[in-house]
Amino acid sequence: MGPVPPGRQTDLAAIRTIRRGRDTQTMSDAPRRSTGGCLCGAVGYEVLGPLRDVENCHCRRCRRTHGHVGAYTAAPSSALTLTTQRGLRWYVADGRERGFCAHCGASLFWRRSGSAQTSIAAGTLDAPTGLQTVMHIFTDSHGDYYEITDELPRHPQSGDPDAFA
Ligand SMILES: [Zn+2]
Ligand SMILES: [Zn+2]
Repeated sequence: MGPVPPGRQTDLAAIRTIRRGRDTQTMSDAPRRSTGGCLCGAVGYEVLGPLRDVENCHCRRCRRTHGHVGAYTAAPSSALTLTTQRGLRWYVADGRERGFCAHCGASLFWRRSGSAQTSIAAGTLDAPTGLQTVMHIFTDSHGDYYEITDELPRHPQSGDPDAFA
């Protein structure tokens, strides 16, 4: 193989970086396992398998629940196991279910009733999460006391109809 043109070298370097990133996330052959819980420890959970990247939800319901924007990852409900649930309660209204800790008040879970997917408040995950925030949703109803200042994609309503409402 002859000398590599500079542009080609750049491409190869980019590919190596991507591969290194992927290797970092799959360091063992075991399925990925994530854990998390509420502030007081009366709710704990684990998720086996991949988690969706984080979406910041600006809807009024999330702001009322979390006190500000909801930052949610998500996983198939079948991949979520409650390891401690003595504090867990569900607030069910309008076909939506929100799981919270009755002892410390943490908001942990969100799902549409009957959905096979559960959204998980990203702030309740143990670090390192391996996740990144990828978009804003329901920006049409964001609070009037802050501006969205980053460059992430913004969706006026849901970016994923199955995940949020
Ligand atoms: Zn708690
Ligand atoms: Zn929301």
